[in-house]
Amino acid sequence: MSGSKTWISCGTIAHYALIFATVDSSLGHKGITCFIVDTKSKGFTAQPIHGKLGLRASDTAALFLDEVRVPAENMLGQVGEGFKIAMSALDNGRFSVAAGAVGVVQGCIDACTKYAMERRTFGKPIGEHQQVQAMIADMVADAEAGRLLYLRAAHLKNKGVRNTRETSIAKLFCGEAANKHAHNAVQIFGGYGFSDEYPVERFFRDAKVLNIYEGTREIQRLIIGQDALGIRYANGKPVESVQALAMV
Ligand SMILES: Cc1cc2nc3c(=O)[nH]c(=O)nc-3n(C[C@H](O)[C@H](O)[C@H](O)COP(=O)(O)OP(=O)(O)OC[C@H]3O[C@@H](n4cnc5c(N)ncnc54)[C@H](O)[C@@H]3O)c2cc1C
Repeated sequence: MSGSKTWISCGTIAHYALIFATVDSSLGHKGITCFIVDTKSKGFTAQPIHGKLGLRASDTAALFLDEVRVPAENMLGQVGEGFKIAMSALDNGRFSVAAGAVGVVQGCIDACTKYAMERRTFGKPIGEHQQVQAMIADMVADAEAGRLLYLRAAHLKNKGVRNTRETSIAKLFCGEAANKHAHNAVQIFGGYGFSDEYPVERFFRDAKVLNIYEGTREIQRLIIGQDALGIRYANGKPVESVQALAMV
């Protein structure tokens, strides 16, 4: 097996990698097969990626495979099933990104509500200025909405119901919310928001990746938009109604 893939989380520390490979790229997604590859195999190298905007505590690497021999029994699923396996993994990965994004929003709420009642300007805590209250109110509303969205996806997963559409909606909404509110959290902290003395600058840097990895926000919008228009149903069929989903 030969090839390379950049931006792989835990790439330098993983003992095994799931590699999606093809022998004939003209077959498109139908030609992709998944393999469990031992990262100690001859010809396998992982190079750490430095200089990231955020997620600095997380290992990220570029992987290189140079004629790595992989035993046939290491094939996961059947020949040509790789794309299906990758997509089902994405439904779970996207879900965890959505939940993590709500964590960022909650972190912003916790930091901002504390700071806003400590820092005083014009004779009162900044939390008593209505424009600051409005930013915090929007954080709270989106944290609650985001939580409900990813919990709905979780509920469908627990019931074994297809949930690509609901997971994409949760991932898009929560990722956008994390970016918007981390931006406003820095604003609430004023000059101190621009320093690493408080956690909000890290939230600001860490939030960006939430609308990049596990499918960018544009890809989520493609999935949701195509589903709404009936061009391609994300769950394989149209959603009957939002109420029906809630009753599953
Ligand atoms: C920290 C980090 C960790 C990662 N970990 C992993 C990992 O463990 N495993 C893994 O496989 N990947 C991982 N990735 C890769 C990540 O999933 C990709 O970076 C992401 O899916 C975007 O792909 P790309 O970088 O090729 O961007 P591109 O596909 O080049 O996209 C560039 C821009 O074009 C837009 N675009 C592309 N195609 C379309 C389209 N059809 N319509 C509209 N807009 C479009 C994108 O939305 C984006 O804005 C990681 C990335 C990062 C940053």
